[in-house]
Amino acid sequence: MGKVYLVGAGPGDPELLTVKAARLLARADIVFHDSLVSREILQLIAPSAEVIDVGKRCGKKLLTQDEINALLVAAAAHHALVIRLKGGDPLIFGRAGEEIEALRNAAVDFEIVPGITAAFGAAAAAGISLTDRRAASQVVISTFSRGTKGAEMEWGAITSTTTLALYMPGPDYAEVAHRLREGGLPDDLPCVIVSNATGAAQQIRWTSVARLSCEEKLPAPALMIVGRVVSRRVQEIGKAFWNEANDRNVSRNVVS
Ligand code: SAH
Repeated sequence: MGKVYLVGAGPGDPELLTVKAARLLARADIVFHDSLVSREILQLIAPSAEVIDVGKRCGKKLLTQDEINALLVAAAAHHALVIRLKGGDPLIFGRAGEEIEALRNAAVDFEIVPGITAAFGAAAAAGISLTDRRAASQVVISTFSRGTKGAEMEWGAITSTTTLALYMPGPDYAEVAHRLREGGLPDDLPCVIVSNATGAAQQIRWTSVARLSCEEKLPAPALMIVGRVVSRRVQEIGKAFWNEANDRNVSRNVVS
């Protein structure tokens, strides 16, 4: 029986891969990877290893999550070193929970190798301190697009000192702006869109909740960071411009 490593590939720049991840990739027998993983990182995989793309992109599902879980369990029966390679960190919007459960249920030995999640790569690229003590007390990692069919999902408790990292914002920025406003975020709250953070095609667009609706769409993968820390003048953006009613009653936002 082999061992399965759930490995984070980081946000894009191959140099942001952990030493441990690089060492494991060089020794792997079989690697199951997502589409988000860059070519440069795939080149670090042992030439003798079997490499399988189980990625899902643009709504084109190559394999279902159940099929991927079954593949991991089956691979561990035949290979010593199995890698499940995901973009960013495997534990952030990476469906690792389901894979961990399947591996546990099948009594397969596994280990998780963290990676730098996209929000941290994007914040570094844009030069934003996510928890700048002058303006933020918490970071919320969230998304509007959870794949749980029909279920209502809360997207977070947002206050004037929250930094919101919004993954998978989708192509409809007007809709995103609408939902942010519905959640009580003020129009002039700064927002930055980072596309391909830390990668060769990186793009950074500085905007605000109000202006977001008219921004041209940046290529995927992209994420948004919203909050006072996104301002170049963090100290000047006081709490005053925030709707005080929202600030007092922490808004709970429900997305269907
Ligand atoms: N496990 C990954 C997230 C997977 S969900 C992580 O920890 O980063 C996929 C979403 O992540 C994308 O829709 C996008 O919002 C974000 N993302 C991943 N890589 C990115 C990158 N290089 N730049 C910007 N956003 C990225």
